[in-house]
Amino acid sequence: MHDHDHGHHQDHDHTHGQEPASDIALRVKALESLMVEKGLVDPAALDAIVDFYENKVGPRNGAQVVAKAWSDPAFRARLLADATAAIAELGYTGGQGEHMVAVENGPGVHNLVVCTLCSCYPWPVLGLPPVWYKSSAYRSRAVIDPRGVLAEFGTTLDAGAQVHVWDSTAEIRYLVIPERPSGTENLDETQLAALVTRDGMIGTARL
Ligand code: FE
Repeated sequence: MHDHDHGHHQDHDHTHGQEPASDIALRVKALESLMVEKGLVDPAALDAIVDFYENKVGPRNGAQVVAKAWSDPAFRARLLADATAAIAELGYTGGQGEHMVAVENGPGVHNLVVCTLCSCYPWPVLGLPPVWYKSSAYRSRAVIDPRGVLAEFGTTLDAGAQVHVWDSTAEIRYLVIPERPSGTENLDETQLAALVTRDGMIGTARL
């Protein structure tokens, strides 16, 4: 069984939606082709840059938020009460992160984030969304069959665990607080942050 939270799609406006995004994507693609053709850039280097922002820079901010929540009960309480304000304490603010909600995994509870209409994503804490997050397959199936999607990511849940699927909108972006791995009691925040993955904060992985 799973619960859905569809975010109130009918009311919400995904203002950074498909048309402007695909227009920009086409222009970027055209520029990239031209630069590669002229020998100005190496496509492998471009892939490395995108990978860097998707996997390294962006999600490290979210990882700091999660590590602090694990280490500091007062911060965790503030994060769950008002994620936008708590995340801003660490200096992570800006576009696509103005209205953050933190959802916490725990024993028997797993959270998964999707944007069914487009690709709303919390940029200040996670950086750029991965390609699969924007795919129609993920966007449709995360809601219909979250356990099947999780299985494809190699993520199995405990029997009887509840799955909450959170549908992002232009107004609300979600950050999953993964369960703190066992055996990490003696780690400091920097060491803890190194354990936190992007997919853990989207909810497609457990740590
Ligand atoms: Fe969206």
